[in-house]
Amino acid sequence: DAKARGRNRYCFYAPDMAARALERMTIEQGLRRALEHGHFELHYQPVVSLSDQRVVAFEALLRWQHPERGLIGPERFIPVAEECGLIEPIGRWVLRAACQQGAQWLAQGHAPCVMAVNVSARQFGAEDFIDTVRTLLADTGFPPEQLELEITESTLQEIGHSQFVLDALKVIGIRIAVDDFGTGFSSLSLLKHLPIDRLKIDRSFVTDLPHDVNDVAITRAIVALSHTLELQMTAEGIETAEQLGFLRELGCQCGQGYLFARPAPAAELFGAGTGEQAVS
Ligand code: C2E
Ligand code: MG
Ligand code: MG
Ligand code: MG
Repeated sequence: DAKARGRNRYCFYAPDMAARALERMTIEQGLRRALEHGHFELHYQPVVSLSDQRVVAFEALLRWQHPERGLIGPERFIPVAEECGLIEPIGRWVLRAACQQGAQWLAQGHAPCVMAVNVSARQFGAEDFIDTVRTLLADTGFPPEQLELEITESTLQEIGHSQFVLDALKVIGIRIAVDDFGTGFSSLSLLKHLPIDRLKIDRSFVTDLPHDVNDVAITRAIVALSHTLELQMTAEGIETAEQLGFLRELGCQCGQGYLFARPAPAAELFGAGTGEQAVS
């Protein structure tokens, strides 16, 4: 028995785990340095209206420009940042940078456009979140009506807290989107009780459209739901003309995906000085 436990324990601390712990520590230290030295940057992906493919919004997506490893995507480091608490200062940086960029586009004469920013669970749960958002909007001068915060279903589970925070954000004038919709465990009462403006149907349901009958049924149901509840809808991860045609026919208003444009640095988004969007 003791021997078995001993062996289990040995297994528990297998080199694999030690390596992972080390990797985590390395990422955490790297993130601190990245914050200090300004190694984060935002890429922006257009969100288009499916009926005419006009750009209606940009989603700000975080990238880490690592001095040795090159560009690192958020899926590699956001979970670590979330665990060690660094997501709060990083999230503040993201919000500030996105609002600054949005304000700059306005100042340059671009048509008003929604800026969508992802908010993690820990950020959303932080006591000073509402104050932080209010301060950043005041500092940057970005209009609250043009800011859309993307929050996942699972983050919204604690309905009392969510109601309180979302109500306060609505008072400021900010728009709310539920991100990765369909992948969490949200009850539909979440949608009924919370002041939500938009559902973003997760890419995993879009990928196999229109061939997978289950994905077709799910997508159809979500579009119908959003119509009934008068929510706006965006489909994520549109890569083919076939997917686009199918979603447009269903009545999905907006879409985002490589078919239209990949996320790119701000400098690559607009044609030189014409005010025309490079995408469309
Ligand atoms: P998300 O918010 O669901 O963002 C959409 C992701 O899908 C982005 O990945 C985007 O590049 C990718 N994507 C867009 N169109 C397509 C497509 O047609 N095909 C495929 N295969 N992918 C597509 P990215 O930039 O790697 O971000 C991944 C996730 O990381 C985001 O998912 C979001 O949850 C999180 N994230 C990104 N930036 C931030 C941030 O500033 N703060 C927080 N808390 N999370 C962020
Ligand atoms: Mg998002
Ligand atoms: Mg999403
Ligand atoms: Mg997603």
